[in-house]
Order: sequence, then C-alpha cells, then structure tokens
Amino acid sequence: MSETSHYLCINCPLGCRLEVDAAGDEVVEVRGNACKRGVEFARQEHSDPRRMVTTTVAISGAPLARLPVATAEALPKDRVVDLCRALHQLRLQAPVAIGDVVMADALGTGVDVVATRSLERA
Ligand code: SF4
Repeated sequence: MSETSHYLCINCPLGCRLEVDAAGDEVVEVRGNACKRGVEFARQEHSDPRRMVTTTVAISGAPLARLPVATAEALPKDRVVDLCRALHQLRLQAPVAIGDVVMADALGTGVDVVATRSLERA
C-alpha cells in the first residue's frame, strides 16, 4: 500500500511540484518532475531530507563585522535550526581564508562549515 506525498523540488528555479508515491521509505513513482533530477530529489527528500546552510558569522579584527560561511555539504534538514543557533554563538578572529573550516563536524553531523570568502586583518 503506497501513500502519496508532495514536495517542492529545489534543485533549480523552476521549482517543480512533485507528487511522490511511496511505500514506507521506498519511492515507487514520482510525477510532476520536468527532469530526472526531480526523481533523485524526491527519493532523498522522502527518506533523508537535507539542506545546505549559508549564513554569516561574527568576526573581530576584520574590515567587515560578519564573515559569509556555508556548509561544505547538505546536512539533515532537522538540524538546520540548531546549526544556525550554534553559528550565531560563534565568534571568529581575522584573518580567515576562503575555504577555512570555521566549524568542523558541525553538531556531530560530519559536515564542516567553511568560510566562503577571505577576510584579512583590518
Ligand atoms: S525536477 Fe528538474 S526542472 Fe523541475 S525543479 Fe527539479 S531540477 Fe528543476
């Protein structure tokens, strides 16, 4: 017996509305996708939804007050709010180079948070 769920594909700006038939975690059929990436998204979203996080972190001694950062890969969607809270508490010190890990193994997810730009000392 399968159940139908609905997801919005966020892989591209088209934003296809996906209709997904699944038996438990197993996706049986996907409708509404304009390309095959939608099928992969539906499978991932149904069984293990994940999101990238991009935000800023407070930094001292730099020309800007905040450093742009992002997760190196997607982490479980239900950890996103906790990660944003943890990053809100973080205080960095310049200099930081693009690609530097500013939070390793964030929340024990195995996902690093990295700087997405460099900031020299002011
Ligand atoms: S299914 Fe394909 S075309 Fe539609 S939003 Fe996803 S990636 Fe874009």
